[in-house]
Amino acid sequence: MKKAIYPGSFDPITNGHIDIVHRALGAFNKLTIAVLENRNKSPLFTTKERKAMLAEVFKAEQERIEILSFSGLLVDFAEQENASVIVRGLRAASDFEYEFQLAAMNRHLNKKVDTIFFMTGSETYFLSSALVKEVASLGGNIEKMVPKTIALALKEKFSQS
Ligand code: ADP
Repeated sequence: MKKAIYPGSFDPITNGHIDIVHRALGAFNKLTIAVLENRNKSPLFTTKERKAMLAEVFKAEQERIEILSFSGLLVDFAEQENASVIVRGLRAASDFEYEFQLAAMNRHLNKKVDTIFFMTGSETYFLSSALVKEVASLGGNIEKMVPKTIALALKEKFSQS
């Protein structure tokens, strides 16, 4: 049974991430969503909050999706979790340079784990967590960019600050 791992910050999850997850589920039996415990970036949502939001969004798929967090090397974590494939999404040419380098580095570090890319969907190519947060912080409408629960969580965060 092929298991894949989808790593990211998911700060917070957007409809772009959800599209990639659904497409990955079309190719793999099981998917681990691995939340990166950012050491350098300071996330808006804590790891616990990001995991809880993912669990809520994917509660209907909980049989096939596991939500974990990690902080060390991704390839070590993937091997530990018996995932032989890393899933990533590509939005634009600007993603390519970074993702290409990351995939090559991971391959260099561990040949047992490979990376597969899904191209962004036509409805979601302009979505990034960073932009969604910026729009939300300025009071813009993010209804079609994230699930309802995430829009509410963002609203709450920005009303506190
Ligand atoms: P990171 O902090 O590692 O970039 P993200 O949470 O931003 O993590 O994204 C995780 C992965 O999902 C990355 O491969 C990113 O390119 C992809 N991704 C994010 N948004 C989209 C989108 N709108 N369409 C396709 N892929 C996306």
